[in-house]
Amino acid sequence: MVDSKPLSELYSVKTIFAILVLYCVFSTKLYSDESKLNVKQIKVLKESFSYLESLEPKRIKIDKSTYNRLSQFESIFKFSFSGKKLSRWIQSRINKYSYGSTGDYIAMYQDGEVLLGRAFFSLNRLDRVLVLLHEARHADGKNYGHVICPENFQFLNPRDWKIHPAGKKGCDSTSDGGYGITAAFLFELGAYGYLNQTEAAHRYNSEISRVIRD
Ligand SMILES: [Zn+2]
Repeated sequence: MVDSKPLSELYSVKTIFAILVLYCVFSTKLYSDESKLNVKQIKVLKESFSYLESLEPKRIKIDKSTYNRLSQFESIFKFSFSGKKLSRWIQSRINKYSYGSTGDYIAMYQDGEVLLGRAFFSLNRLDRVLVLLHEARHADGKNYGHVICPENFQFLNPRDWKIHPAGKKGCDSTSDGGYGITAAFLFELGAYGYLNQTEAAHRYNSEISRVIRD
């Protein structure tokens, strides 16, 4: 046999390895709520960006006057609709992703880093893109922080019904915050026929519902 080791030595190596693995598992679980994304989670994240990058402007499928009246994309992002550009826009704002408990949120942004909760990975690719787009806006500073939704806020959270926005910091007072930009993006998806008008409208309205104007 080539490269074989005495059985007793093999056991001790295995034991030390097992202790090390246990130590790592427990130390991350006990001392930190946050961990690096695993291979599967990285794949899900990459798929989200590939999907976004596949979305490019084609012929507008809605009437031009409606488009001109309601399209906000270019005035917000300063470039015309492009999934590839939007992907770069997000990636220039988020440097690091981690996985952990996010409480009442699907994801959380802090100092260039996004913490993704379990729910994120069971969303479909469009919803994942919306979450990333939303979180990336937080990189642009305090002006895009949220305000408290009214106590009588009755709109459902489209991505998780267990999350109730009423009385929580889940609304915007600006039209180009995290919710305004996802609405602007969804509008383009409807206009270019990536989503049918009914789905685009429901999704658009849902994001807009979080923009509170006095
Ligand atoms: Zn937010």
